Order: sequence, then C-alpha cells, then structure tokens
Amino acid sequence: MLKTFPKTHIAAAVVISAVVGTAMIFSPSAEVEAKRMSVSLDLESGEVVQTNLSNGDAPIPSAPATSDQESVASTEVASDQVPLAAASKTPTPADEPKQPELSWTEYQIKSGDTLSGLFKKAGFNDGLMLSVIHGEGEATKLQRLYAGERIAFATNQADELVSIKLQRSQLESLQIDKTGEEFIGKTVVKEPEVRARYAEGEIASSLFGAGQQAGLTDKLTMELAGIFGWDIDFVMDIRKGDRFSVVYEELYLDGEKIDDGKILAANFYNRSRELAAVFYTDKNGVSDYFTPDGRSMRKAFLRTPVDFARISSSFNLNRRHPVLNTIRAHKGTDYAARTGTPIKASGQGKVIHAGRKGGYGNAVILQHGTNITTLYAHMNQFAKGIRSGTYVKQGQVIGYVGSTGLATGPHLHYEFRVNGTHRNPATVKLPDAAPIAQAELERFKVSTDNLLAQLETYQESGRLTLARGE
Ligand SMILES: [Zn+2]
Repeated sequence: MLKTFPKTHIAAAVVISAVVGTAMIFSPSAEVEAKRMSVSLDLESGEVVQTNLSNGDAPIPSAPATSDQESVASTEVASDQVPLAAASKTPTPADEPKQPELSWTEYQIKSGDTLSGLFKKAGFNDGLMLSVIHGEGEATKLQRLYAGERIAFATNQADELVSIKLQRSQLESLQIDKTGEEFIGKTVVKEPEVRARYAEGEIASSLFGAGQQAGLTDKLTMELAGIFGWDIDFVMDIRKGDRFSVVYEELYLDGEKIDDGKILAANFYNRSRELAAVFYTDKNGVSDYFTPDGRSMRKAFLRTPVDFARISSSFNLNRRHPVLNTIRAHKGTDYAARTGTPIKASGQGKVIHAGRKGGYGNAVILQHGTNITTLYAHMNQFAKGIRSGTYVKQGQVIGYVGSTGLATGPHLHYEFRVNGTHRNPATVKLPDAAPIAQAELERFKVSTDNLLAQLETYQESGRLTLARGE
C-alpha cells in the first residue's frame, strides 16, 4: 500500500492524531468529508509512533520515519538545512522570572505613554531610567516604545529594580537585567514550534465551505487557491466532488497555536485532473511551488492584470468601435474597473514604452524575452519609477486604471502580442514560469520527495479511516 520512501538519516517519531470532522460524525453520509490530522515530528526519539486519538481502533499503518526535512524548516530559520523538528526542540528562552523572590509589575503601553512616565508609575525615577537606557548591549532600545507592547519591571526583596522586560510581540522581547551595577539588554526572539498538519476535504458547494469543513482558515484556503489558481479557475472550473488534500504548518508558542505557517504540499482533484504542488526553497533562498517533477506551478504571465475586474469587451477582430463607431478590430481585452485600480505587469520584463500613445492614452508596453510584448492602455497614472528601460517583476504595479485616450469609461485595455501578432489575452496558451534548474534538480528531489511521501501517507491513512466507516 505504501510507496517506498527515501532512506532516512534522521530517525523521527511521527505522532498522528486523526480528528474526524463534525460533518462525518453527525452525518456519516454527508457529501462533505473533512478530516484533520496533527503530526508532531520528534527527532530525538528513534522510533515511529502513531496514535489515532479519535477512537480506540487499531493504529493506522506506519508512516515513514521522516528525513530530509529541509523545506519544512520554518521561514524564521535562516538555513534550509535545519530540520522541521529542530524548531520544535529549540529551548524556549527564559521568559518567566525564575527567581521566586522577584516581584513583577506589568503595564500595557498606550499611545502617549513615555518611558519616564512608565518608570514613574512603577516607582522609579528618571535617574534610574537613564542608567538603564545607557546600559550595555541593547539596553538603549528600551527608548523605542510602541502602543500595544507590554513592559514589566522586576524588583528584588530590597525593592531594587533588577530586571525589565519589554514584550514587543508574541515572539520578540527586549530583556534588560542588572548584573553588578550595570544594566545589560538583549533581544530575545522565540522560535515558534512548527507542527505539520494534514487536512483533506471534498467540495459540496464551494471551496471555502470545504476548506472550513476541513478545519482550514480562510487564509489557508486562499493560499491553496493561489497555488492552483494558475491551472484551475476557482469560479468556473470547480465541480461538486472535487477534492483536495494538504500538508501545512501550524505555529505554536508555549503549546498554543499562534498562526498558520505555509502550505508544504497539496493535491487537488479537479473533475478528472489530479494536480500536485510542493513547496521548495532554492539555493538562492527563493521559495515557490512546483510540480513533483520540478515544473513551476506558475505561468510566466498573469491571465488578468487587474483584480476585481470584469471583462467589458473581448478580443474581437470585427468589433464596432464604441467611440469611433466604425468596424475596427478589438485586438485586446477590456477590463472594466474603477479609476485608480492598480494594474499589474502580467509577466516579468522590461518597459519599452511608458507615455502617451494616441488613442491608447497613457500606455505602458512591456517586452518579455524576445518574442512577447504586452500593452496596458488608458491609464489614469503610471506607477512610480515606471519609465522606458525599467525592469519589472511579474505582478508589480505599473500604473492605475483610467480613461485616457479613446475610452468611454475607466477600464484597462490589455494586449498580448507574440512575434508582433495580437493574440487573445483571455485564451492564449501561457508559457510556464521557469522550472527548477537542471543543476538543482537533485537537491529539489531530495527536499521534496519526503513532503510528497508524507502527503501520500496521510491520504492512505485517511482512506483506511473512511473505509472502516468512522
Ligand atoms: Zn480595448
């Protein structure tokens, strides 16, 4: 049943607890099947442990001991060589006072508060405040306070100030301790514990509904849609019965979930198509999603260079022009949008025109590689820095929707030319973004095989669970 997994060099323990979604519990025949599994990877234990916590049934067959967890490392970890579980094993810096004889007073910082005022409230004078901020290390950073942060003062039994803690966020604090006669400050950054989690769902009516049933936040569902959005039109293509499965990160601090991390691997079954995507960070530190064989999930061009727009006029070689009232080919696609809506470069390239251009009004033309150009017309305004010769990235804002030139109302007129010939931007087959470089393919395989194997294992487990009628 299980595939052969890559050889392991790090022994790991995998604990799986499957929590069957409420739809399954309350309505076994429900169309929506949602399931979650929490997985914790423990590199220190040499054994693989799996526990199905949802019921007393026999455990799910073994998952692989994981290895090569490179790409699972949290984004906060600079090196992509750090295994996932390393983050979970990072000792949490002492944030609670260990000496029981200290007494702590904490204040929430509000706008208008001053350091001097906070010291005063805690019973200390400006002289002491000055000796703190003139202390060693990063003590001086105590002067930068922001509303919403919390500051705590610790005194010993002799009522002397011995410690200050400025909690900047859930993860970051400035800790200042008195050592001898000197205050010494340091920034303490906690690494959240990263837990891989599995979810799967089947679409009954909407992707978001299925995502919620599967326990995904809307933000994660959006990300899932973003990953597959180049291949699936989530408005037009989605059908009842489409399925997805996803392995993603959850970030925990002191046992409490603080956020979702990124999606690590996902499958999407759309009608009869099966699509797979896996997260990878290349040697240069650039991260993206790829197919298991290393092709980019992205296209080299966005289909639509404006968000929240509708097509108001399609590519049509026999159209009557709305202003000139003559038959004149419409060699582009019009997207109606409010004046000022950002217009994005559909692909990376070089600006070869940015200025007035007859009936096009304010127009930008981009050159992509040697044979493709795109044109964006009727702009109200160009984006800052957009001029001939500038290089732009895909998705970079190059201007704003307007109605300059021959236009009846605010819209983007968008053209796509291949070797000088106008093509329909809405239907032209778009080339894929660059795949994994040949020289890096080996590294890619090593890094992603394990993630894909995990995804498959959880899917298998899920199928068994369902087959047992749970
Ligand atoms: Zn047009």
